[in-house]
Amino acid sequence: MGSISPQLAELDASNFKVTRTTNFRDVPLPGSPEELSHSHCTDHMVTVRWTDVNGWETPEIKPYQNLSIAPTASCLHYATQCFEGMKVYRGYDGKLRLFRPDCNGERLSNSSQRSSMPGFKPDELKKLVGKLLQIDGPRWLPKNRPGSFLYIRPSIIGSGPHLGVQVPKEATLFIIAVPWPDFTNTTKEGETTPSKGLKLFASTPDTIRAWPGGFGYAKLGANYGPSLQAHGKAKAQGFDQILWLFGEDRQVTEAGASNFFIVWKNAQTGKLELVTAPLGNQLILPGVTRRSVLELVSSRLSKPVGSLEPVEVVERTFTIDEVEAASKEGRIVESFVSGTAYFITPVAMIRENDTDISTLGPDGEPAGYAALIKSWLGQIMYGKEAHEWGYVIEDEEN
Ligand SMILES: *Cc1c(COP(=O)(O)O)cnc(C)c1O
Repeated sequence: MGSISPQLAELDASNFKVTRTTNFRDVPLPGSPEELSHSHCTDHMVTVRWTDVNGWETPEIKPYQNLSIAPTASCLHYATQCFEGMKVYRGYDGKLRLFRPDCNGERLSNSSQRSSMPGFKPDELKKLVGKLLQIDGPRWLPKNRPGSFLYIRPSIIGSGPHLGVQVPKEATLFIIAVPWPDFTNTTKEGETTPSKGLKLFASTPDTIRAWPGGFGYAKLGANYGPSLQAHGKAKAQGFDQILWLFGEDRQVTEAGASNFFIVWKNAQTGKLELVTAPLGNQLILPGVTRRSVLELVSSRLSKPVGSLEPVEVVERTFTIDEVEAASKEGRIVESFVSGTAYFITPVAMIRENDTDISTLGPDGEPAGYAALIKSWLGQIMYGKEAHEWGYVIEDEEN
């Protein structure tokens, strides 16, 4: 696994074929039905074909269009598919930035190999995304709208026409960019005041998202299809996401397409901890936001910040019973989820069987850790703080 045969061409983003659109698409207004449809992509897309004979071919940038694949294509039958979720941000300094795109490149290459498709050098992904946004950025994220973003979806599919059950002989990497509603506004439809946080529905033993030796740690479409039924049922009952539990002891893993964090007082030491599930057992998706939260909290919250006490970062297995006990004993200070799509969002409660567990602080409010971490990340993403995690893309001059 992971070896690239020397005779196959590697993915190389330095050489492009560019075909420009002559038919520019309408840019949806923020909050418009087109934007809410999550389907109205920018003017161009990237595609790169791979074959087991030649390796990666020359990347193409071309007008946004439908893909053409055979009904026998591997991805349509055997879930040979993986993806990434990234954003490009229009900074307050007028510049376009990606956030830690090397992490997404590395993860996409790993996910591709986990679903029997080719890997690549992680750096090439950010160059491909950068080239696309250099062209589409000026129209779709205008300089006079700082603080806005587009969602970027790189994906790799087994695109060859061989119906036999086998390792794909062909694959296609494609990258699209799409205006996306800002989920960080937590005011719900039909409500006028922002809610205090998400409502999570704990998964039941008949639906398990991931298991040891499986692929929960890879960003595969195959993780999602079988989980959406539970998600849909939870939604219908007024919940926002499933909190995925695992094992006899009902370990808390992650929530929907985001990682889960809880800030509580350690029952023995009385000290504050930020606890999240570990990566070692390969059950959860190693989120770029998760990693960034842990790194920022380790470096900046080892001492008090304003009225917030220091917290210690703890990555360990913990169970829903521990969460329930901490809630009953008034030890929970706050909880939140992290991810590119949902950014940093507080969690208000968890329904587990017939029990509603409050995950807000003792006064019924989030303590403010999520808000602080969110503002730190936002400053890096939107160029208010110069930081090595921000990768600048130069707009093309028209
Ligand atoms: C994408 C994803 C996340 C969040 O990862 P980020 O890199 O922070 O966006 C968390 N859990 C799952 C299952 C995911 O698919």
